[in-house]
Amino acid sequence: MPAIMKTKPAYGAELVEVDVPKPGPGEVLIRVLATSICGTDLHIYEWNEWAQSRIKPPQIMGHEVAGEVVEVGPGVEDLQEGDYISAETHIVCGKCYACKHNRYHVCQNTKIFGVDMDGVFATYAIVPAQNAWKNPKDMKPEYAALQEPLGNAVDTVLAGPIAGRSTLITGAGPLGLLGITVAKASGAYPVIVSEPSDFRRKLAKKVGADYVINPFEEDPVEVVMSITDGAGVEVFLEFSGAPKALEQGLKATTPGGRVSLLGLFPRDVTLDFNNLIIFKALEVHGITGRHLWETWYTVSSLIQSGKLNLDPIITHRYKGFDKYEEAFELMRAGKTGKVVFFPKE
Ligand code: NAD
Ligand code: ZN
Repeated sequence: MPAIMKTKPAYGAELVEVDVPKPGPGEVLIRVLATSICGTDLHIYEWNEWAQSRIKPPQIMGHEVAGEVVEVGPGVEDLQEGDYISAETHIVCGKCYACKHNRYHVCQNTKIFGVDMDGVFATYAIVPAQNAWKNPKDMKPEYAALQEPLGNAVDTVLAGPIAGRSTLITGAGPLGLLGITVAKASGAYPVIVSEPSDFRRKLAKKVGADYVINPFEEDPVEVVMSITDGAGVEVFLEFSGAPKALEQGLKATTPGGRVSLLGLFPRDVTLDFNNLIIFKALEVHGITGRHLWETWYTVSSLIQSGKLNLDPIITHRYKGFDKYEEAFELMRAGKTGKVVFFPKE
């Protein structure tokens, strides 16, 4: 079968032919119906510092997936051939202090497929049964695959009340775009988005942003203050990982407001904590991964409600993996929302 593999410790990846794997104890084999590229895959492709320290080539890439179970390994009881599943990509230990407190999303022994083991950019893939999430049969495979990153967006947006609340989103990359649609579907108003890329600001509008700001041309704090009559936003959701956006967002948040931080900063960030957080009595949430499994229930229901506007976010759809290089390069250039591969039969 064809698979996108990180073959060497260097930039890029290769499309290779490999054998269809056999599911071991506690595992299932799926036929991949849809699989999307995550920012993490891009880091592995680019071979950045983090990837160099974590990835051991050769390894099949990818982790966001929807597929049909075609073979069940020994000891798997609650899945069978024909089940239509997606997968939580964090394989948690169930034994550490965090897991014992039901905080599986911060398990200290987490392994990730496509990172610590072979992934899903292939026609068939192995999924640990404990990580499978059963989908309703009528959910589109591309939506089912997006549930994993949607989980990040849902945990960011819904870490506190949002209905009827003014909201600032910084960064409209794939995750910020998912955040916009979750915020809109949950009744946030107005949703104000700060994003320097023209392409992504246009996408943000299509997805449902009420206002968009180019932070390189206007001051987002001033724009937010004028939209909110000087009050600032109730909710600030950080999806960019840009230190400047963090500072602007904190300034634009109303005293007593709520802040959720998902973006990962490239370096230590210096901030006026006293004036931007403490004296404003802000409620600040760090967001990582997704809650197991509460967030999956929320994501699945949100998709089934029909209220999410996912189609404009999926900007690129590829049949097969042949054009994988084009897909990765477009994503590197910031010229995409989510990119989805549909393996050929
Ligand atoms: P991305 O890099 O595609 O998107 C970031 C966006 O922010 C880009 O569109 C960029 O133009 C925009 N941006 C840059 N500077 C800005 C500024 N000053 N103001 C506003 N916007 C600005 O990344 P993504 O895949 O959408 O992921 C978003 C962030 O979430 C990344 O930092 C990623 O590392 C992080 N992430 C965190 C977790 C977690 O569990 N905490 C999981 C996945 C991703
Ligand atoms: Zn654990």
